[in-house]
Amino acid sequence: MTSLIILIDGLGDDPIPAWNGLTPFDRSYHPAMDRLIKEGNLNHVSICEKDVVPGSLTCILRLLGVPKEFFPGNRAYLELLAQNRDISEYEMVLRCNVISQDSSGRLVSFNGMGLTSREAEEMAKAVSSLSPDIEFIHLSGYRNLLVMDRSEAVLQVQTAPPHESMGLPVEELLSELKEASLSMRVFMQETDAMLQRYNRNDLVYRLYPWGASCRTEIPSFETLNGLQGALVCQTEIVRGIGKALKMEVPELSYCTADIDTNVREKLAVTHDMLKKYPFVMTHFNGTDEAAHRHDYEGKADFISRIDKEFLEPLLDNSESPMRIVICGDHVTSSVTGKHTRGKGPVITAETKCMAKKNFAINTYRDIVKFLMKESDVNG
Ligand SMILES: [Zn+2]
Repeated sequence: MTSLIILIDGLGDDPIPAWNGLTPFDRSYHPAMDRLIKEGNLNHVSICEKDVVPGSLTCILRLLGVPKEFFPGNRAYLELLAQNRDISEYEMVLRCNVISQDSSGRLVSFNGMGLTSREAEEMAKAVSSLSPDIEFIHLSGYRNLLVMDRSEAVLQVQTAPPHESMGLPVEELLSELKEASLSMRVFMQETDAMLQRYNRNDLVYRLYPWGASCRTEIPSFETLNGLQGALVCQTEIVRGIGKALKMEVPELSYCTADIDTNVREKLAVTHDMLKKYPFVMTHFNGTDEAAHRHDYEGKADFISRIDKEFLEPLLDNSESPMRIVICGDHVTSSVTGKHTRGKGPVITAETKCMAKKNFAINTYRDIVKFLMKESDVNG
């Protein structure tokens, strides 16, 4: 039997006071999900439990059957894979934000606030051709990656993530990294000089490299679970997970990784993948983004859209039995805008089966077991 997991990023939420304590999932209109709950079960589970951080990287790896000892230390390497780029064991990759600091040198924004997207592109182009030792890869907006020769000294530096360092002196935050590598120090001096033309309103724009990581080998999805699979998603880090696990990660043309994504394209591609593979994960990121923006209405509307534009036609058009899980990776609270360890809804069902079955889904292990289990003889 084919297994499909529809991963709605940050699906769980806190009770919304303006809605008398309902969550965006409660509040959304989801008759197709209700149909599945009727055929199967609705449970509430914390995927991260108490032992891993409540983030997409860790929780999605977990739902794909990857044991904790194979979790990569940070995201840079997976973001690189998502760009269809890889590194050798003699290289490393760092994340690199465009940040701004005030006249006293304190970190004011971790995301190049105030720059237009055109300026960010232009800046990236100028920086790309700067250093023969450091390759600059522009992802989007303020987000970039640096690829350079592997240096144990740099890998050991724990530069604080910029989004957790607001108000702190930038020079101090970066000093350890600069001391660890001469080519890094030269690169930062040159980019500091080059970015001066963007200064305005007493703000100075700079590059902020952090989170160095090297090549991480993760066993393939097939090795771990005994079946091949595909991952349908647009979010970079999740695409990187799929590639690291050697799953098929099809290109999408109209998806945005936010609530304005093209749900119908995801449906069409999911259909294709279900014909090719016994396991498919389709990921929707807009729910998480909306919750980070405290936009609980946007989150609920997006859940309704997934139900109407993805799940309903999927159920109506599938002829053969299918094992379906709908869940989030972690809870994203629209109240605080943050990820939490709380429990989120998990829907499990086997469609087109003779009788309703009860599955005990109490932990993430039960979800993985449900998705990966051998087909019953009767389908
Ligand atoms: Zn998030």
